Amino acid sequence: YYLLHNFSVLLDEEKMGEGLLLRDITKEEEIDTLKNNLISLASHEFKTPITTIKGSVETLLRSEVEWEPEFKQELLEGVHEDIERIQHLINDWLDISKIDSGAMNVEPNTIRADHVIELSMESIPKTLKHDAILEFNNYVEEGFTFYADKMRVQQVLINLITNAIRYNDSNRKKVDITLDKENGYTTISVADNGIGISKDHLEKIFNLFYQVDLTATRRTGGTGLGLAICAGIMEAHEGRIKVVSEPGMGSKFIIYFPDRKGEDLI
Ligand code: ADP
Repeated sequence: YYLLHNFSVLLDEEKMGEGLLLRDITKEEEIDTLKNNLISLASHEFKTPITTIKGSVETLLRSEVEWEPEFKQELLEGVHEDIERIQHLINDWLDISKIDSGAMNVEPNTIRADHVIELSMESIPKTLKHDAILEFNNYVEEGFTFYADKMRVQQVLINLITNAIRYNDSNRKKVDITLDKENGYTTISVADNGIGISKDHLEKIFNLFYQVDLTATRRTGGTGLGLAICAGIMEAHEGRIKVVSEPGMGSKFIIYFPDRKGEDLI
């Protein structure tokens, strides 16, 4: 059973939608909306790939037909893609329930910042990466480490980089990933030259299921879970996530990891 956490963003008055993430108290009536969203998610996001998988497997099982190897390969690749999609969705769903029950535990370690960023960049699917230029700008010293859960940091970065490519109509899609330090935090920002987000939407994009443009995101296969999970992961790190965006110009998401406290250090 889910409880809805509503994430809200504090807006900087003078600037276009710059904000720090805060967490609101759960509202009872919002649970109904959440339930409806889950039902609609299940019907859209599960039913379609399962129906396609069923159709492909039934085709391949028709022993009376001698299928061309290329055709078989194509069907199997489609099945594989659909299964990955469902798997991804289930993992996201489990993460959301962990965040909601306060059980999103992270296992931080001292990790190499450049390694985790490079690994994340390499993990972006080729189909997405092929029409974008990903650049890593490193403003810290060689071998710089910070204290975080490596897998979870990768998950956040992959989510942010994927969004940076997907919500971008430009012919020259550019994603700048920048590593830096700022007032007791390690910061990693993911900046794009994409469609941007207007101020009224900016307040809500970290909310569970929130999507700015349903038609466009349906096309790109979004669910509105990604940023809520990113926010939950950053909260579990006692860090924060911030967004700066201007419609038509692009967006920049910045994640902050607090430096390890003195007493924790050996
Ligand atoms: P999803 O991408 O699955 O829809 P997310 O939680 O990752 O869900 O994002 C929520 C919404 O925020 C997206 O649907 C999109 O409208 C908007 N958004 C996220 N990242 C960007 C970005 N880099 N540029 C423009 N819009 C974005």
